[in-house]
Amino acid sequence: MKLESIYRYCPVCGVERASFEPSRPFRCHACGHTTFFGPVAAVGAIVTDESGKVLLVRRANDPAKGKLGMPGGFIDPGESSENGLRREMLEEVGLTILSMQYLTSAPNRYIYRGIELSVLDMFYVVQVEHRDIQMRDGEISDWIWTELSDDILDQMAFASNRYALEFYRGRIGANGN
Ligand SMILES: [Zn+2]
Repeated sequence: MKLESIYRYCPVCGVERASFEPSRPFRCHACGHTTFFGPVAAVGAIVTDESGKVLLVRRANDPAKGKLGMPGGFIDPGESSENGLRREMLEEVGLTILSMQYLTSAPNRYIYRGIELSVLDMFYVVQVEHRDIQMRDGEISDWIWTELSDDILDQMAFASNRYALEFYRGRIGANGN
């Protein structure tokens, strides 16, 4: 169920919603309040080791618990995507970013406890200070350095992550590697 479809009452004046027409954003017919339903922003990092293998993390929590993802997460209010990625990399895997290059973006759907949130994922190729992974915030259960085989891509939690990795793989291939 999409987030916008559970807005039964205006969050400002409390009047019940008049209709569930596909209206985006939500507009209250009584007080005029408007709620925009995103997408919210998220970031993901492509980190490689000396041999070009990519760091993927195994998700410790739902949604998609046990599946693979890229280090990253949701951007906080007031934060840039770059600073959000720096923060998430430190929090999640204990890595310090030295530099980053924007790669691509993809829409994503984040479904938690039956409610679907629209997300825009932005992906960066990053260089890190060292590669000693430290799991810090409990959001991942494990990590791997891996080549981007189809079998690995089949284990990605989100289609947006898979898209970014395929985009990256194609770019690497095009560079004659
Ligand atoms: Zn209202």
